[in-house]
Amino acid sequence: MMDNHGPAVPSLPPMTSPLRVLILGGSTEATRLAGALAADAAFDAVVSFAGRTEAIRPPAVPYRVGGFGGIDGLVKYLRDARIGLVVDATHPFAAQMSTHAVAACRLAGVPLLAIERPAWTPGPGDRWIDVPDMEAAVDALGEARRRVFLGIGRLNLPVFARAPQHAYLVRLVDPPKEALPLPDVEVVVARGPFEAASDRAMLERFGTEMVVTKNSGGVAADAKLTAARELDIAVVMVRRPSIPARPVVPTVEEALDRLAKLAAGRTPDGLRAL
Ligand code: NAP
Repeated sequence: MMDNHGPAVPSLPPMTSPLRVLILGGSTEATRLAGALAADAAFDAVVSFAGRTEAIRPPAVPYRVGGFGGIDGLVKYLRDARIGLVVDATHPFAAQMSTHAVAACRLAGVPLLAIERPAWTPGPGDRWIDVPDMEAAVDALGEARRRVFLGIGRLNLPVFARAPQHAYLVRLVDPPKEALPLPDVEVVVARGPFEAASDRAMLERFGTEMVVTKNSGGVAADAKLTAARELDIAVVMVRRPSIPARPVVPTVEEALDRLAKLAAGRTPDGLRAL
């Protein structure tokens, strides 16, 4: 009998090695994603932290700490560590890291997926003052002395030094190592997630008249917004910085869904585009 199917095509060896995933961390989403990937043999993940906070909560997978050294440094890391996919799960205000990730992934030919939680939007009873950046937030406080809660992290505090007439309540993850650049300041050291009842008690105790926050989105830090609404306190809401276009999903669950499809579609030549 004639074989009219031609010579047999050698079948490709199955892709048995797990997909190396770099998770750019610093958010609750990054930690949750790491936990899920740790339990899945299809993935071999590593989390990267900037190292801004003193007490790192170790994720369920290996982690590294510190900057990569700009775009070129990240390209080198992606190649050296044989990364097959980057998930940008940084905080929505970590614009430099996210911008570098877009450029480095393009240069290294590595697919990139970002988890970007939806921004907060005002609801009934909210008194929000929408501002484009921190400088505008300082202006929004006005000339008259006010009692202001700053829930913005440590790095943005120097901007408020040019408005020393206000009394500030500042919430930080770590105790400050040096004096803050604000003459009238009280510091609360606490790490989220926060509860609306305790945030309300904190704002009431300080006699807070205005709240300044970044539009981080998510549930870990929205308690202060509920508390401000209940106390009829104005909120200066700093808009998110812009980041170059990239594939984005809003939740860890959707990221896992994309990753599973991606891992299933792997070929020896590379990964299908996200
Ligand atoms: P950024 O301004 O976007 O980044 C500045 C530089 O820090 C980057 O160019 C990079 O250095 C390094 N870096 C940032 N994130 C990194 C990461 N995950 N792994 C390794 N290096 C990283 O960032 P940022 O706003 O200072 O935030 C720093 C970290 O804190 C981020 O991981 C972010 O998720 C987290 N965080 C930020 C905020 C916020 O409001 N900005 C709030 C909560 C948590 P090289 O150029 O040397 O690579």
